[in-house]
Amino acid sequence: MAEELNPFKIAQAQLDTAAETMNLDRQAHAILREPMRTLTVNIPVRMSDKQVHTYTGFRVQYNDARGPTKGGIRFHPQENIDTVKALSAWMTWKCSLANIPYGGAKGGIICDPKGMDERELESLSRAYIRSLGRYIGPDVDIPAPDVYTTPQIMAWMMDEYSNIVRHNEWGVITGKPVEIWGSEGRKDSTAMGAMYIMREAAKMLKIDLKKAKIAVQGFGNAGMYAYTLSKKMFGANVVAISDSKGGVYDPDGLDLKKLNDAKDKTGSVDGYKSKNAEKVSNEKLLELDVDILIPAAIENQVRGDNADDIKAKLLLELANGPVTPEADAILHEKKVLDLPDFLVNSGGVVGSYFEWVQNINGYYWETDDFYAKLDKILTKSFKSTIDMRKSYMDNGKRISPRTAAYIVAVDRVAKAMKVRGWY
Ligand code: NAD
Repeated sequence: MAEELNPFKIAQAQLDTAAETMNLDRQAHAILREPMRTLTVNIPVRMSDKQVHTYTGFRVQYNDARGPTKGGIRFHPQENIDTVKALSAWMTWKCSLANIPYGGAKGGIICDPKGMDERELESLSRAYIRSLGRYIGPDVDIPAPDVYTTPQIMAWMMDEYSNIVRHNEWGVITGKPVEIWGSEGRKDSTAMGAMYIMREAAKMLKIDLKKAKIAVQGFGNAGMYAYTLSKKMFGANVVAISDSKGGVYDPDGLDLKKLNDAKDKTGSVDGYKSKNAEKVSNEKLLELDVDILIPAAIENQVRGDNADDIKAKLLLELANGPVTPEADAILHEKKVLDLPDFLVNSGGVVGSYFEWVQNINGYYWETDDFYAKLDKILTKSFKSTIDMRKSYMDNGKRISPRTAAYIVAVDRVAKAMKVRGWY
């Protein structure tokens, strides 16, 4: 039977595993299996050819027991409600594991941003906020950028919301340009967070990062910074990287300028040229003989059919949902330390939290402060996950880091719901 790849079913199955392991109250489990609020909006937008096109958008607010809901907005032709629901659930667990005062949400619009001009994108972004205005706000639900949405789009959205409430409301959206109080450090905070996790995990596994070989799938915001920061912070040897068209492998390591040149000249990093470089497909990149594998592109890359071929000792899920449940079980058996997405990529939302805190207080930090605080939170999340795993191991039950992280996160949300009298 084909493996279940519906993201919301995967999110529910992951929760079910954690609920069973931790013996979660049945009523709390029922609340947490479904989103608190699911909104669908149909948005007419006048296009540059004067015709009106109606776009469908979503916003899912999964759970707000611990604070306003928080999550990005995606613009994608294949956007669908199940993906948005799954991502809103994962945001809930991500914010809880990081122990920041938010619940989880996610939004999306079915559209092809690459085929739209700037005016059309602005009109669509503003119309989305007008249709959702009464359901969001700095104390209610705080969007951010995600797939194919940018700081510029966040700026238009913040401006539209501010028009609705008749004052500048910087804290309604994060990931804004710094000119309108976006935060220094936010841009690379996702990958930076992953670096702090990588440092702690390498310490635990006794991997010397100076000698480690790393493969990164994806050369976008997450993957590109993971590549540059691994080199800059630890002197690590990133031997392979890819984009949607394919990848490059060079045992001597890769050079950023050459990667950018290849991307500019050939449209893909697979056009990289050097003495020992060779092309590698996205599938083969995952199976390279490296110490650390960082999937930083899209979901469902490590599956039941290829998990057994993974050779890395440490897998850092920088993308959302890159490892399927079947693969999860196989990696667990193989004793690959697979650290889950909602731990590894949580630097992004923690960075967003810092932006929101600064907006609300009107007091702005130095960049060094930003990173020091980020490090503290991410290191603590890693430790909570590993400690939870150890507490089960000590009682003879071997659980995966994903289940351990779920238990930490779900327990906090369940306890908040309990004291609030929700069950
Ligand atoms: P991006 O659009 O900037 O980059 C995506 C990269 O993946 C590109 O290099 C693209 O060519 C590549 N790619 C696309 N399809 C591919 C395929 N089939 N095989 C291999 N590579 C492919 O996106 P991003 O912001 O870097 O996000 C990447 C992942 O990280 C996503 O899962 C996203 O949800 C997750 N993430 C990102 C952030 C962030 O702050 N950027 C935060 C949390 C999670």
